[in-house]
Amino acid sequence: MELKYKRILLKLSGEALAGDKKMGIDYNIVTDICKNIKMCTELGCQVAIVVGGGNFWRGRSSGEMERTRADHMGMLATVINALALADSLEQQGVPVRVQTALPMQQVAEPYIRNRAVRHLEKGRVVILACGTGNPFFSTDTAAALRAAEINAEVIFKATMVDGVYDKDPKKYPDAVRFDRVSFSRVLADSLGVMDSTAASLCKDNSLPILLFDLSDPYNIVRALCGEDIGTLVSE
Ligand code: UDP
Repeated sequence: MELKYKRILLKLSGEALAGDKKMGIDYNIVTDICKNIKMCTELGCQVAIVVGGGNFWRGRSSGEMERTRADHMGMLATVINALALADSLEQQGVPVRVQTALPMQQVAEPYIRNRAVRHLEKGRVVILACGTGNPFFSTDTAAALRAAEINAEVIFKATMVDGVYDKDPKKYPDAVRFDRVSFSRVLADSLGVMDSTAASLCKDNSLPILLFDLSDPYNIVRALCGEDIGTLVSE
């Protein structure tokens, strides 16, 4: 199989790790996802992962709570997911390092860009937790930021939807899925791809995002090999 990309940033939403339970972690699902990440590394691709935390906690949905504190809780949630992914990859014989944007050195390495790149060059999967390390941001924005920092060629945003639509497909049965769409259109029409901070960062740094459905985790390999799945958001 021919690789389309040599270095990718895979953004996994927390929700994608929860399965039908919608909350917490379904380790069988984690294992399935990691099997496919392993295939990507065996094909020679360098894989960095930014993982969300929405299966445990989202700062923006925390009601009365002080937002910064709520976001700290959200960032900690991403660490739980990162450790679960690391465990599964390691059990499958894939070398892996976890790096956190908030230092917690007994648990994982701190995020250091050059060190992350070195791990990738050595064939290790790098899992980046705690998002950007700042409140009021999302892990989508962290994915955009880290992808730019490590010179990833593309962001794979693997979620529970199969691409970008012109309107909400749950409300409108005639909604049409794009194969390709520009960042300008995503921003102008507020298409529900990702938050505008993340979309702007990608646009300004010419970083394409491929959005696809993770309910079949083999889609990660399909995307890597350039099969026509999901929606490509680019300039
Ligand atoms: N978060 C944050 N700063 C970041 C990234 C994440 O404060 O740079 C917090 C925020 O509270 C967010 C939570 O971590 O709601 C989980 O991340 P996200 O909602 O992006 O996870 P996903 O929806 O992808 O599972």
